[in-house]
Amino acid sequence: NKKATLLDQAAIGRALTRIAHEILERNKGPEDLVLVGIQTRGVPIAKRLQQKIEGIEQVTIPLEEVDITLYRDDLAHASDNQEPMVQPVKLGTDLTNKNVILIDDVLYTGRTVRAAMDAIMDAGRPAQIQLAVLIDRGHRELPIRADYIGKNIPTSQSEVIVVELEETDDYESVDIYEN
Ligand code: 5GP
Ligand code: MG
Repeated sequence: NKKATLLDQAAIGRALTRIAHEILERNKGPEDLVLVGIQTRGVPIAKRLQQKIEGIEQVTIPLEEVDITLYRDDLAHASDNQEPMVQPVKLGTDLTNKNVILIDDVLYTGRTVRAAMDAIMDAGRPAQIQLAVLIDRGHRELPIRADYIGKNIPTSQSEVIVVELEETDDYESVDIYEN
């Protein structure tokens, strides 16, 4: 059951506008940037950041996608013992010496981001990988942090964040639910 709305459509838009400016400031402009969205909802977020940066700098930054799926190994007992696995990626953009901005909707244990970084490192030799997320809900299990965060939401393990975007859900809202 729903506990609260954390971000409405306008707030999501403002957070992504801020992140677009932060990316440009930190990287001293759009040169050498590549955006990589993590399927599913990291991809529309990456496209919006691409559009916002285009609006600010009149430059279209290359955009790629990685697809991470949960893989339950045979030894797993607990229901949450699923390890994110990356699908083999063929990127159209050469990542050599690029500043890669990895983008996802929610950062939780960090395992998905770790898998995505593996795929990116296999696909090329970027100068840097930075991480942008709409929501950081805490509970990291790996030494991973986001460089750009829409909103920090300290959650309990029993709470989940529901992210709905126009592109994927025909509605736009970030809500917190109690299981
Ligand atoms: P992690 O791998 O960091 O544990 O989890 C991050 C991945 O799982 C992201 O791709 C994100 O889409 C999804 N995820 C984890 N927790 C939540 C959550 O509370 N809400 C949503 N919408 N996605 C989550
Ligand atoms: Mg996901």
